[in-house]
Amino acid sequence: MDIYADHAATTAMSPAAIKAMTRCMQEEYGNPSSLYRIGQRAKETLEKAREEIAAVIHADPGEIFFTSGGSESDNQAIRTAAMAGKRKGKNHIISSAFEHHAVLHTLDRLKAEGFEVTLLDVHENGIVHPEELEAAIRPETCLVTIMYANNEIGTIQPVSEIGKICREHGVVFHTDAVQAVGALAIDVQAENIDMLSASAHKFHGPKGVGFLYARRSIQLVPLISGGAQEKGKRAGTENLPGIVGMAAALKESAAERKTEAARLAELRDLLISGLNEIPHSALNGDAERRLPGNVNFCFEGIEGESLLLLLDEKGISASSGSACTSGSLDPSHVLLAIGRVHDVAHGSLRLTLGRENTREHVEYMISAVKDVVAYLRSFSPVWRDLESGKTPHLL
Ligand SMILES: *Cc1c(COP(=O)(O)O)cnc(C)c1O
Repeated sequence: MDIYADHAATTAMSPAAIKAMTRCMQEEYGNPSSLYRIGQRAKETLEKAREEIAAVIHADPGEIFFTSGGSESDNQAIRTAAMAGKRKGKNHIISSAFEHHAVLHTLDRLKAEGFEVTLLDVHENGIVHPEELEAAIRPETCLVTIMYANNEIGTIQPVSEIGKICREHGVVFHTDAVQAVGALAIDVQAENIDMLSASAHKFHGPKGVGFLYARRSIQLVPLISGGAQEKGKRAGTENLPGIVGMAAALKESAAERKTEAARLAELRDLLISGLNEIPHSALNGDAERRLPGNVNFCFEGIEGESLLLLLDEKGISASSGSACTSGSLDPSHVLLAIGRVHDVAHGSLRLTLGRENTREHVEYMISAVKDVVAYLRSFSPVWRDLESGKTPHLL
């Protein structure tokens, strides 16, 4: 059985998005900036996609800017607020310890340029406390950037409360909503969101395209200079097929969101209760306030990468926050942020469910993970020490 269970990393393109893109590539080759009819038709297609996307998050079409994806949107949003702050003598930014690297590494660069950054604790359930955010706001705070939902452990942040606090204090609020758009109901007006990042390939659209929502009052700072596309805020001929595919995928995700979220949450909870039967294991992140398809566990005494390789042999595509897979010597900063110690964080497994997954898949995954964990523990020296009492169990 082949099971794709890594929907937080990327998703398969939906047939509707492929169809819309194919039609666009075959028929809309014009440049939206050209004045003749072929160009103007492409321009109309571009603006129609903008309207469709805006409607899903309750924004105005004029507030949607097309980008190359989540990373670019995060960079542009953060840099925009930082530069606006700098002009007013404000150099303090608030974020959280478990943001995506597109946010954290942008903040590192700003620190080198003289900004001060406060990273809020996400506590052991993986959720920021709004009162701690409010206490961290200073007169010189120019930006709060907190993700909508975490990409590793799936925890959903109290975005409405954060938005309200930021509005009351006159601080710009950006949210990396890459994991949330398409999966959760988002209303940028009601939730007082000033900027929001999204990426098409996380909701069954194409890779290399995304958008940045920026409220009218925000003057975006361009990262790429050149032509006057996107009101001069993002130069370069628009990726029209990608944008059309993104709009089709988002429309479809929004239309089926309610039923799909309920279906996935049921599968998620089934998978969680199955994996909970494995001794010395623990779910990472809050059990309820999490994305409908996210399951993330730590298992004591094993290495995440061995687990992934053996699961791959059984046909399961999954992910881990262990060191090798995170591309550094340290395990996932997200797991460390929720207080997992290194040894425990190394034995992590993320299974993220999506549209194609079924109950049968979940049952197969439960038995496969149980078998693989037992097998790896059977010859693990770390597990032997835990079982003999030489080192104490932490889970
Ligand atoms: C995937 C992801 C990104 C990066 O998006 P790209 O389109 O791949 O650049 C940023 N933030 C979060 C939370 C993500 O899950």
